[in-house]
Amino acid sequence: KAYREWETKKIPTTCPHCGTGCQMNLVVKNNKLVGVEPINGAANKNLLCVKGKFASYKFVGSGDRLTEPLIKRNGIFEPATWDEALTLVAEKFSQLKADHGSDSLAGFSCSRSINEDNYVFQKMIRAAFGTNNVDNCARVCHSASVHGLAHTLGSGAMTNPIADITTDVDVILLVGSNPEEAHPVIGSQIRQAMQRGTKVIVVDPRKIDLVKNCELHLQIQAGTNVAFANGMMHVILKEGLADRTFIEEKTEGFEALEQIVADYPPEKVAEICHIEAEDLIKAARLYAKAEKAPIIYCLGVTEHSTGTEGVMSMSNMAMLVGKLGKPGCGVNPLRGQNNVQGACDMGCMPYDFPGYQKVANPEVMKKFEEAWGVTLNKNVGMTSTQVLPAAAKGKIKGLYIFGEDPIVTDPDTNHVRKALEHLEFFVVQELFMTETAAYADVVLPGISYAEKDGTFTNTERRVQRVRKAIEPRGEAREDFDIFCDVMTRLGYPCHYDSAKEIMDEIAAVTPTFGGINYDRLEETGGLQWPCRTTEDPGTPIMHVGEFTRGKGLFMAIPYKKARELPDESYPYLMSTGRMLYHYNTRAMTGRTEGINQIANRSYIEINTIDANRLGIQEGDKVTVKSRRGTIETYAAVGNRVFPQEVFMTFHFPDGNVNELTNAEFDDIAIIPEYKVCAVDITPIR
Ligand code: SF4
Repeated sequence: KAYREWETKKIPTTCPHCGTGCQMNLVVKNNKLVGVEPINGAANKNLLCVKGKFASYKFVGSGDRLTEPLIKRNGIFEPATWDEALTLVAEKFSQLKADHGSDSLAGFSCSRSINEDNYVFQKMIRAAFGTNNVDNCARVCHSASVHGLAHTLGSGAMTNPIADITTDVDVILLVGSNPEEAHPVIGSQIRQAMQRGTKVIVVDPRKIDLVKNCELHLQIQAGTNVAFANGMMHVILKEGLADRTFIEEKTEGFEALEQIVADYPPEKVAEICHIEAEDLIKAARLYAKAEKAPIIYCLGVTEHSTGTEGVMSMSNMAMLVGKLGKPGCGVNPLRGQNNVQGACDMGCMPYDFPGYQKVANPEVMKKFEEAWGVTLNKNVGMTSTQVLPAAAKGKIKGLYIFGEDPIVTDPDTNHVRKALEHLEFFVVQELFMTETAAYADVVLPGISYAEKDGTFTNTERRVQRVRKAIEPRGEAREDFDIFCDVMTRLGYPCHYDSAKEIMDEIAAVTPTFGGINYDRLEETGGLQWPCRTTEDPGTPIMHVGEFTRGKGLFMAIPYKKARELPDESYPYLMSTGRMLYHYNTRAMTGRTEGINQIANRSYIEINTIDANRLGIQEGDKVTVKSRRGTIETYAAVGNRVFPQEVFMTFHFPDGNVNELTNAEFDDIAIIPEYKVCAVDITPIR
C-alpha cells in the first residue's frame, strides 16, 4: 500500500469503467487518489475486477490531463481563457446556425459521464443549438438493444437484476457475450453459479474461457444469430415445449413467428451457423425445460447489420417459453460503458427526450417546451452514425463532442477523419488530448468522475451515486457548468447550483425517474427505474403481469447474411471485442502502468491451421488488410477461433482495428457491423 490508513479519507462511489456498476471507495490522501477498495454494492457483492481495482484512479492524476481551454490557431493549440474560448464557441455556433440552420449542428454526449451532465448536454443541444441531432456511444454498442427491446417488450433495457440472473438459476443462455473480460464481476458471478450447478449454454464464435466449464458451446459463425434463434424456436415448437398459455394471454404476433421458424429446421440452421444440429436441439431442450433460465447477451448480438433483429430474436425466444416477468429469467443485455444506460435514459438520442419520451409525440414536445421555456425543433434528429457521413458531405457544419473519441471507436477510421476534417467548427470537451480532440478548433477541459458529484445508471437500471473525492486540476471545470455557460452565451440562460438540483429537474420531467432523488439514493444505495413516485421502491424485474407495451410483440424475422463476407481477396472473417485489462480507447486503463506491463499491444487471434499454412508463429508481426485500410499487429495462434475466422480487440491506437471494420449499418438502430468484416493476413518477414 502506498498510504497509511490514518492519513486517508475514503469516499464511496461507483466504478467508472463498465456497466456492472461496482461500488467502491476511493482512497484519498492530500487531495490525491492513492487507492481503491471494494464495497458491498447490490451488483458487485464486494468484488472488483482488475480495471476497477487498479485502473480507476491513476488516470485521474495523470500528468497529461487537460487543465486549460485551448484554441487552435494556424494549426497549433494555444492556451486561452475560459471567456475567450466560450465566446468563440458561442459566436461560431450562432453563425453556423444563422447561415445554415440549426440542423447543421450536432452533439455527441459522454456515456462515461454522470446522468446530470448528459441531461444538461441534450438540453443544450435541443434548447440552445435548436436541433435533435444529439446521440451517445450507445449508437455503436447497444442502440440495437434500446430499439429491439423497446419494440418487442416496451422498454429497451435489461429486464432482471444481476443478482437475480446469476443466483440459483438452472440454465443461462449466454449469447455473444464474454463477461469474464467485458463485465468481469458479472463473469465471476456466472462462474460461481456454474460451480453451484447452473448449466451455461455459450453461444459464441470463440472459445471464451467460460467454455471450459459450460454445458454446451455452440460455436456459431459471427453474423448468424437470427438463424440460431429461429432454429431454437423451431425445435421448441416442434417438441411441444412452448408456453402456450403465456403466448395466448400475454403476447401478439405469434402466428407470423410460427410460420417463419417452420422454415428453420436444425439441419438447415446447422449449415448456416456452422454447428451440429444435435447441439442446437440439445440447447433448445435445455433452455425451454429449465424453470429459471435468463438470456444474457452482449455486443455479439447487437453489432451487426441485423443487430436489432438479433435483439428481437432474443425477445422472441424468451416469450415463446414464457420466461419474462419472472425471477431468474428475462432478456438481459450487458451494457458496455459505466453510464451508457444513463446517457440513453437522459435523452442523449435523436428520437427521444429523457425517459424515452418521443420527440415525434406532439404532447411530449409540448411538455418539454413548457418545462424548458423554449420553442423546440420538431424534426427528429440524426444518429451519430448519420452525422459523420453528413459532415463528410458538408451537411453538418458544427459538432460538439463531449468525452467521445470516434477516431478510435467508430468503424472505418479513414471515413471518420474525413468527416471531422470537413467540419467548419468543432469543439471537444475532454480529460485528455485524444486522437479526436486533435482535430478540434477548441478543446475544453472537463473533469473526471472522481472530481464531481452525480449518478451513474448501471446495466440493470440501478441509479447509483458518484461522489466527489478530490478537487479538479488547473482550470478544468464542472462539465454541466460549461454547458450552462455555452447555453447562456447562445441566448438561453441556464444555471444549476449542483448535480442534485439537476436530478430534481430530471425527476420532474421524466416519469420513470419521478421518485428518484439524492436523499433516497443515500438511504437505499441505489434505485432501479421505473421508479415513479417517492413511495415507489423501484422495479427490479420488469414486465411482471404485463409487458410495458401491453402485450409482448413477436417479430417474424428471416435470417440475412452479414454485408461483407470472406472472398478470394479477403478470405478471413474478422470479429472484434474487448479484453480483460483494457477499456475501450484505453484513455483510462492505458494510463495505468501495471496494466500496460501486462497488455500493451494489439493482437489478432488466428487458428493454428491457418497460421501453419501462412508460416505464422505465435507473436509474429503480421499485416491485416481490409477494403478500408491496412494495419500491423501481432499473431496470437491457437484454437480460440475456427479456421478462416480471426478476432481482434479494439483498444490499441497502433494496430487500430477500426481502420479495417466496415461502416455498414443496421437499418433500424443504425449500429455498425463491427462483428463481421472480411480481411486478409500476411506475415511480415
Ligand atoms: Fe468496474 Fe466493471 Fe470491473 Fe466492476 S466489473 S470493477 S464496474 S470494470
